[in-house]
Amino acid sequence: MGIKNHFDPDQLFELLSTSLREQNAWKNSFGAFETDESLQLEPEKVGAVFNELNERLKDNYPFFHPRYAGQMLKPAHPVAMAAYFIAMQINPNNHALDGGPATAKMEIEAVAEIAAMFGYAKHLGHLTSSGTIANLEALFVARSLHPGKAIAFSSQSHYTHKRMCDVLGSSTVEIPADVSGKIDLGALEDALKKGTIGTVVATIGTTSLGAVDPLDEIIPLCKRYGARVHADAAYGGFFTLLAKEKKPLINAAPFLHLSQCDSIVVDPHKHGLQPYGCGCVLFRDPSVGRFYKHDSPYTYFTSRDLHLGEISLECSRAGAAAAALWTTLKLFPLKPNTGLGAVLKKTRKAAAELSRLLSTSTHWKNFVEPELDIVTYFIAAKPFSASNISLQTEKIFNKAMHNPSHPLFLALLKAESAHLTKKFNVTADQPTTTILRSVMMKPEHLRFIPTIFQELEALAENSNR
Ligand SMILES: *Cc1c(COP(=O)(O)O)cnc(C)c1O
Repeated sequence: MGIKNHFDPDQLFELLSTSLREQNAWKNSFGAFETDESLQLEPEKVGAVFNELNERLKDNYPFFHPRYAGQMLKPAHPVAMAAYFIAMQINPNNHALDGGPATAKMEIEAVAEIAAMFGYAKHLGHLTSSGTIANLEALFVARSLHPGKAIAFSSQSHYTHKRMCDVLGSSTVEIPADVSGKIDLGALEDALKKGTIGTVVATIGTTSLGAVDPLDEIIPLCKRYGARVHADAAYGGFFTLLAKEKKPLINAAPFLHLSQCDSIVVDPHKHGLQPYGCGCVLFRDPSVGRFYKHDSPYTYFTSRDLHLGEISLECSRAGAAAAALWTTLKLFPLKPNTGLGAVLKKTRKAAAELSRLLSTSTHWKNFVEPELDIVTYFIAAKPFSASNISLQTEKIFNKAMHNPSHPLFLALLKAESAHLTKKFNVTADQPTTTILRSVMMKPEHLRFIPTIFQELEALAENSNR
């Protein structure tokens, strides 16, 4: 099924050449001028360097292929790449309106759509160059509102929270995570009782396991103790699209509480089909913009409105990233059954299906039940010890990747052996156990799951021999 004459790479070239012609006509409307000699190049030299570039780029894993079932990596959608490339002809800078009025407006529109997806009635927000910077901004506001207080996050939260708190000079409290990778609510309450925590970071989809912290329980808890809540939904945020369905494919409750968080971070460059360089931070209370206030004598001169540069920590930022996101959201709207929702449903189903198949196998065990589209699993090796499981896992990982006719690219994850002992009775003869992790983040994975499972079974059989 699908669209018969769907937009394919050949049409991409057509689209690009039409757009370039259009852009050139606009450029020429200001009067033709010659490229300076210092910038001119000989076509043969360009060709030679690009040949080398093409060769060099083959030193990569095939992130675009369903056989790549490893880390959280995939190419952007061709329309996002095309929009980025076309906007880059002008190279607007979304730091200020006079750096790129068109793309600044696109950014404001795209960010408003994302805020509406989360259910924010009002918002202040903007794109950033990454999720890390977006989280830094949220933590910067957290610190500004509660200067002397600590920022709490779980041991499974992204490692950059600790680092960014160091940058901000904020004290931190690490809350343990349970066996499923979620923040331990009992431990969180004990910490909140001390009255020293200003903001709690809830992770909506942890990077390693895809675990969703129970925001529906964290919010009332934090209200009781007067703490703010920041949701790090860098990876999982767009799954919100699936939460309002009658029979959601995910546990909807945490997502339906995102609108009550003080701030939210989501990465369009993870699940929003964007090239790298696109994070997003949103605040529920627009008045936090006051913390960014500064006066730059040489930039803002075309508008009295708040410029994007006045509400962000970064200065120069690619307007092309905003153009790419804006274009993508026009073609992949934030809806549950079409657009981006339809894409995410497939990735979610792919993870659920792989996990189901693994649970039918005598060779494999699911480490945790996938909540979103990350599957974590390990081999039921004999002896059933942390060291032997780790050894067999690494063997399988390498063998799968180096198969000459049908390579399969997986990722490794270090799990706490104590968790494997508790859940599966694994002998904890070393502190961590290496297991496998597959992020099923491409919709094409769904159709490929039977193949992946078959190959995993064959790999396990060979390793047990
Ligand atoms: C990826 C990720 C980040 C960091 O985002 P970058 O865009 O890689 O800087 C932060 N938090 C979570 C939960 C993530 O998955």
